[in-house]
Amino acid sequence: MKEIIILGAGYAGLRALHVLQKSGADVHITLVDRNDYHYESTSLHEVAAGTQPDEKICYKIKDVVNSNKTTFIQDTVEKIDTEQKQVYLENKTLQYDYLIVALGFQSESFGIPGVKENSLEMVDVRTADQVHKHIVDQMKKYKETKNEEYLRIVVCGAGFTGIELVGALVEGSKAFADIAGVKPEEIQIYCVEAVDKILPMFSEKLGKYCIDHLNKWDVKLLTGKPIKKVEPGAVIYQNSKDNENDLVALNAKTIIWTTGVSGSQVIGESGFEERRGRVMVNPNLTDPKHDDVYLLGDVSAVMDPASNRPYPTTAQIALAMGSYAGKDILNQLKGQPSKPFSFKSLGSVASIGNTHAFGVVGKTEVTAYPASFIKKAIMDRSLYETGGVKEVMAKGRFDFYH
Ligand code: NAD
Repeated sequence: MKEIIILGAGYAGLRALHVLQKSGADVHITLVDRNDYHYESTSLHEVAAGTQPDEKICYKIKDVVNSNKTTFIQDTVEKIDTEQKQVYLENKTLQYDYLIVALGFQSESFGIPGVKENSLEMVDVRTADQVHKHIVDQMKKYKETKNEEYLRIVVCGAGFTGIELVGALVEGSKAFADIAGVKPEEIQIYCVEAVDKILPMFSEKLGKYCIDHLNKWDVKLLTGKPIKKVEPGAVIYQNSKDNENDLVALNAKTIIWTTGVSGSQVIGESGFEERRGRVMVNPNLTDPKHDDVYLLGDVSAVMDPASNRPYPTTAQIALAMGSYAGKDILNQLKGQPSKPFSFKSLGSVASIGNTHAFGVVGKTEVTAYPASFIKKAIMDRSLYETGGVKEVMAKGRFDFYH
């Protein structure tokens, strides 16, 4: 019997597990994750802002494991040895015939000084929860000190993550204001972005929709201001493009770092040929040097023939990769040739708060209520594709369909 190991119970890993488990193939699967739960990484910003409780975005991995076919091991992956076909966990070593690496992302600091020490990251449920607790603590401290810096929240980077976090923080500001004993409009939300035009993948019209809402909500969006350093309680950004010495300090007691991500550090530490933790994979999503090792989701780079650049890492592509890899292993076991992975994005939609969103679906631009509806439908679909009907019933965004 062939042994298939899946590393990571995120979107890609659980989707591959689902395909392999439901096949009648004579395989044993071992699923490894450091947590005993799966979480919806697309909703971390809501946990950080306190607009969703963490249990609403998590479900137990055992709920989707068929114990006749799969063994789940809760442990941390330290290194992969592709020559010996072994995976070193903190507490155990495993041997595989096929390996699926779906270990997800980590925050990218780009070597900017002080980021690790002086800002908060939001990369999993634990860190998203810490962001929320931190903000609540600062609100309490404002009540004691009346120092406005406790009311100031700075989001670093206005990519998808930064913008969605800002939207959720606006929504959460009433609860924060209640704790601090101030009006919601006194909670100061800043977003500092290096480039002039935010979300360049979208049209002027969609960009304007987003900026108009941020302005309406009094978010201070500072564009064209690359952050050069983070000090305790201050973000230092370059104020004018042509003068590196024109540095400004923005003081705040909450600083959240969302300037981009890289794939898991295990990839580099295991000797894969990688860039920012992502491996440029074969057309069947395997490592160029090892056709028994699949790399999926945030640790994988697949060229988009339309743009001639790797596809952006999204939950949608991770799910598609998981389905593909499960099926491709089944083909390999039957001695059938691989068909290349292909991906057609349904589009991308960014939420700003619970009822506002904007994006592109197919070729159509959507905003406001329809976009928000689509965003929630996409999230329910990823819940369905990883967890099944039970999880959608328990965690789906049914509040929205009322
Ligand atoms: P990103 O790379 O897309 O955006 C990071 C932003 O930070 C960019 O605008 C960049 O210019 C800015 N930045 C970088 N360095 C900076 C600095 N020193 N100072 C100030 N600004 C700086 O990263 P992300 O938003 O974390 O997204 C990661 C991936 O996840 C992307 O592929 C994204 O498409 C995807 N994602 C998708 C969704 C969705 O579909 N709704 C939501 C979240 C993330």
